[in-house]
Amino acid sequence: MSHLFYQGRGRKPVLDQARGVYMWDTDGRRYLDGSSGAMVCNIGHSDETVLAAMRAQMERATFGYRLHFETEASEKLAAATAARMPAGLDKVFFVSGGSEAVESAMKLARQHALAVGQGSRWKVIARSPSYHGCTLGALAVTGYSSLTAPFAPMMREMPKVPAPRAYLDGLDPEDPATGHHYADMLEARIEAEGPESVLAFLCEPVGGASTGALVPPAGYMERVREICDRHGVLLIMDEVMTGAGRTGAFLGCEHWGVRPDIVVLSKGFAAGYAPLGGIVADDRLVEPVLDAGGFAHGFTYAGNPLACAAGHAVLQVIEAEGLIGRAAEMGASLKARLERLMARHEIIGDVRGKGLLLAFEFMADRETRAPLPREWRAFERFVQIAYDMGLIVYSRRTRDGIEGDHILVCPPLIVIEPQLDEIEETLDRALTAFAAELPARREH
Ligand code: PMP
Repeated sequence: MSHLFYQGRGRKPVLDQARGVYMWDTDGRRYLDGSSGAMVCNIGHSDETVLAAMRAQMERATFGYRLHFETEASEKLAAATAARMPAGLDKVFFVSGGSEAVESAMKLARQHALAVGQGSRWKVIARSPSYHGCTLGALAVTGYSSLTAPFAPMMREMPKVPAPRAYLDGLDPEDPATGHHYADMLEARIEAEGPESVLAFLCEPVGGASTGALVPPAGYMERVREICDRHGVLLIMDEVMTGAGRTGAFLGCEHWGVRPDIVVLSKGFAAGYAPLGGIVADDRLVEPVLDAGGFAHGFTYAGNPLACAAGHAVLQVIEAEGLIGRAAEMGASLKARLERLMARHEIIGDVRGKGLLLAFEFMADRETRAPLPREWRAFERFVQIAYDMGLIVYSRRTRDGIEGDHILVCPPLIVIEPQLDEIEETLDRALTAFAAELPARREH
């Protein structure tokens, strides 16, 4: 009997050890971590540089309350993070995870509006589908009805616009007209809401868990930035999953040269070595808030020195090992392999993503883009088959505008070609095994 109740009653193998891209359970079974946990462990498991930095910090102090002390660890991480941002984004606020960071970004935006006499602005427009966290504030901007519906009476749901799902709508993702088509829906929504009531637009540069590595069409991001500027709306970029190199750039938004007003980081930021998240905001947003009395916000663990020491060492490893370039290079190799699998397996209807944020989506029919029946729970079944073969991948069944099962394949950025061979070969076997079960499902 377990005292834990993370999800259902099902039990999982017990984790014993993790090294590099591999993990072992207490029965000695080995798994290739093909999803870096939940797109977290970007530099792989048990990196000696990070462990040494954490040990050194532990010997000095594991906790110092931020209102009592500055710590070298948080100062160093803040400086290293700001150095990685587009110019002008240099004010950093640490938290312990992605949901906390999203909440912090929205509250900073609101406090800025109040500080500059724009108190009528409070709506944060987001997209559907999307995922931005599980706390009530972050859920309010999440477009994923099965997660949000139970809590609807307890929160103030924010307006949503459709995610740019060009691949489902049959539009050419390379044509800027496609990007403009989706971005213009944001402008229409801002106008319908009343621009003076809209505080910010929140989105991921490349969709993560909710949309399965959805890359926006050409022209989208740039147009979104223009629209936000035109209406005095802040652009908050949720880089929780895409940040710290995963897409082959430090921030996902760099691919389109778009400069957000606030960047939200977590996951790969401390790469699973410690709970860490953060926001990086434009100086021009933070100064008026400080002038007006300061940011009325803060968690007990904000700026925790052990987490910051881990984060700083992770950034050093990313630089020293050239992991951003590797994400681009290995990502291209893995994407080509997923495309090969698509050519062999009819059930894959789309392969997409950037760098090592990659996914494929199951379809019943490639022509009509029809999804598999929801009752098949294909996403869960496929993940289990791969897991039993020693490969961990991440999956979701999305609704709210993208009805389909997608499988994210996102190994740590340290992955090497022979490990990509192993991923491809295991996925091939898992897809064959999955396809063999389908006739029985169809009969039910
Ligand atoms: N934003 C995005 C884009 C995410 O992918 C996630 C987590 N999957 C979150 C926010 C929330 O992060 P956390 O689970 O650390 O609270």
